[in-house]
Amino acid sequence: MELLILKINEFLKNYHGNLILNNDDPNVARLGKANPNNQNVYYFHVDKYPFSTDYMKEVGEGKFCPFCQTRLEYEYYQYSHIGKFVCPNCDYGNHAIYKEARNINLHEKTFEIDDTLYKIKSNSIYIIYNFTAAITCCSLYHVDTNFIKKALSTFELNNGRFEKLVIKNTPTIINLAKNPTGANMSLQLLNEDKEEKELFFVLNDNQVDGTDVSWIWDINFENLNNVKRIVTAGTRSYDIAIRIKIAGFDETKIESYPDLEQAVKALYTNTTKKYIIANYTSLQPTRAELLKLKYRS
Ligand SMILES: [Zn+2]
Repeated sequence: MELLILKINEFLKNYHGNLILNNDDPNVARLGKANPNNQNVYYFHVDKYPFSTDYMKEVGEGKFCPFCQTRLEYEYYQYSHIGKFVCPNCDYGNHAIYKEARNINLHEKTFEIDDTLYKIKSNSIYIIYNFTAAITCCSLYHVDTNFIKKALSTFELNNGRFEKLVIKNTPTIINLAKNPTGANMSLQLLNEDKEEKELFFVLNDNQVDGTDVSWIWDINFENLNNVKRIVTAGTRSYDIAIRIKIAGFDETKIESYPDLEQAVKALYTNTTKKYIIANYTSLQPTRAELLKLKYRS
């Protein structure tokens, strides 16, 4: 993570163009200081929403001020280390905000920016951050607000990024997770949903996934909300099952299948809503199995 930030920072030292940054992520907002002469730095921010917390639920990647190493103070957290923060020593984080998303209503799937109400198809805070970035960009290039509203109201994610499918009459949400933050974001969405559901976790350890799967211990499987069963699959199906068991989930409700096809078949023996988390190389094979079942039924 740090290597990536430093590389982008190095490039930005001589950059004078428009730069749009998430002010709620201390690892991102710091890039605004890479070139003090750039007058075109724009920060966006997402206001507190009903699931914001005053403590960090997961392992965060930005606890300390990158400029003076003081521990950052948070007014609230949205997810992981994303939230309203400031450095109590050097005031890092206290930037003028160009665009702010407010009145976030996950139930109605709406939020407001500059008194414009945006209705979207997703109920994830993570997606609202992405949309706020997109709206900030569109605003800088004078794209008509009504056009943005229309585009956002019909936009649906596919290809395994919070993708919604119906398989054998079963509502299914599938999301890619390559790291603890991504997985925790999916679990936050699952926990915000009061309905009964089942979780399917597919974990591979191929070369591009990283052969070290110790990151699964930073996933917050504690206190899952109304999860009736968990099915695991992938080359490391047993590792993820053990992680979940250690988190306190009833082991008699965990099923592991190293074989993906078998796992998907076992998963759809009932019509309880499914949340699916798959890591990098497991995502497309998982989707393929799901679609096979969808079009066969
Ligand atoms: Zn500081």
